[in-house]
Amino acid sequence: MISIDINKSTNEVIDYLINAKYPIVLSGAGISADSGIPTFRKNDSKSTKASYFGNYKNFINDPRLWWEDQLNSRDNIKRTNFRQSVEKAVPNNAHLALAKLEKLGYLKHIITQNVDELHTKAGSNNITEIHGSRYKCRCIKCEKKFPRDSVPTTTLPPLCECGGIIKFDTVLFGEPIPKSVLSKCINVINKSDFIMVVGTSNLVNPSASFPKYIKKKGGIVIEANTNPTPISSISNVILRGSTSILLPKLVENLLKRLKFGKD
Ligand SMILES: [Zn+2]
Repeated sequence: MISIDINKSTNEVIDYLINAKYPIVLSGAGISADSGIPTFRKNDSKSTKASYFGNYKNFINDPRLWWEDQLNSRDNIKRTNFRQSVEKAVPNNAHLALAKLEKLGYLKHIITQNVDELHTKAGSNNITEIHGSRYKCRCIKCEKKFPRDSVPTTTLPPLCECGGIIKFDTVLFGEPIPKSVLSKCINVINKSDFIMVVGTSNLVNPSASFPKYIKKKGGIVIEANTNPTPISSISNVILRGSTSILLPKLVENLLKRLKFGKD
């Protein structure tokens, strides 16, 4: 049910959380919005060139041309500015609250659609980046990952020792989720009996199926988001508002509960 009282609604979540065996979080762009990262690339979405190179099919057709475009920071000022704003971003109170939850033992895993590594910077340890990381590259054949800056770009496209082509780790439109990443997600989802969906209203598959699957097998679904989403209707509790306010409140009330517990 929707509750406008933040203490009441976070305490409802805690009732479920303390009984959960394997609580997890699925996070999206909304959680990074308070770190100054736009939830979508407003200007670039209209750019034909950006959508051309954002498409996996066009990467496969001409990986060298794709790399040349990515390394060209001068001719795409908007993209360069966007990249710089992401690189300057630091974790906000929502990221920090989730890292705290993990340390307290009340969060086993984060599956994130974000590529900004802010969960890692906040101190969370068990994270699966389903859409990759902007700070890494990946071989499309063996799926080995490399720090982005370590990949030599004198000859394009760079190749892995296995002979596969290396690209940025971030998943392009039309690109399959890497098999190793997907199997990790499935493993986590199968174990989970509680999922909190944080800061994502625009769930894309396969992420969109995770809360539905957990609900179907009798698990708990929590939504924390500023706006209603397609999973609002299957949520046991809805936390409505900014995640950088809601999640710290959740942790604060959990700590009170643990301290003055009902024992
Ligand atoms: Zn390889």
